[in-house]
Amino acid sequence: MKFIIGNWKMNGSRASLRDMIQKTEKIKTENRVVLCVPFTMLGETSDVISFGAQDVSSHERGAYTGEVSAAMIAETGAKYVIVGHSERRMYHDETNDIVREKAARALDNGLIPIICVGETMDEKRAGKTMDVITAAVRESIPNDVKDKIIVAYEPRWAIGAGITPSTDDIAHAHRVIADNLSYMGLDGTPILYGASVNAGNVADIISIENVGGVLVGGASLKPDEFIPIIQNVK
Ligand code: PEP
Repeated sequence: MKFIIGNWKMNGSRASLRDMIQKTEKIKTENRVVLCVPFTMLGETSDVISFGAQDVSSHERGAYTGEVSAAMIAETGAKYVIVGHSERRMYHDETNDIVREKAARALDNGLIPIICVGETMDEKRAGKTMDVITAAVRESIPNDVKDKIIVAYEPRWAIGAGITPSTDDIAHAHRVIADNLSYMGLDGTPILYGASVNAGNVADIISIENVGGVLVGGASLKPDEFIPIIQNVK
């Protein structure tokens, strides 16, 4: 079973989500299809799609104006939450420590955190890719999480850029992540690839060793792009 997880970021509307739900309702897939949508769109239901949020507070409750707790997300029926997406790390200064706290709150409330790791272009050029993703895996994952988390490798420089790393680069990064997870006693954790996935490249990406699914941004927004992605993951 592979994961096909869409990240709508700050896009879409309730109407476009309902359109996606309606257009996907006849799809037969053995894989797990998830849409991580803005908080305000959570609460919809579908037989094919499970839902998730894109961020969660690191706090349980209290005077944190504007934040949304894991319990509140779980109450909508959502099952997943993205934590540590590169846009949160970049625009909101989220560190591995904050990401770990957020993942812990998600787990406390029965949500599956999708923990994102990935290098910037500067880090890649400096030859630091493996160090960066190793540190992110070691520091962003809470204790005692066997079979309770998903990790997503998202090279930041390829997100929304329409370019993907080579097959060898994806395979190497996923091997490094898998080895680190194994060292941490987390063998079997699904490791998704994300960044510029589309219907044309998904079949090749999904066949790479240690790729347990895909995290899809832009191409998850429209049914005529997302449905072929679902269908091309065999
Ligand atoms: C993302 O931001 O999680 C992502 C995968 O984006 P895109 O597919 O648009 O590169």
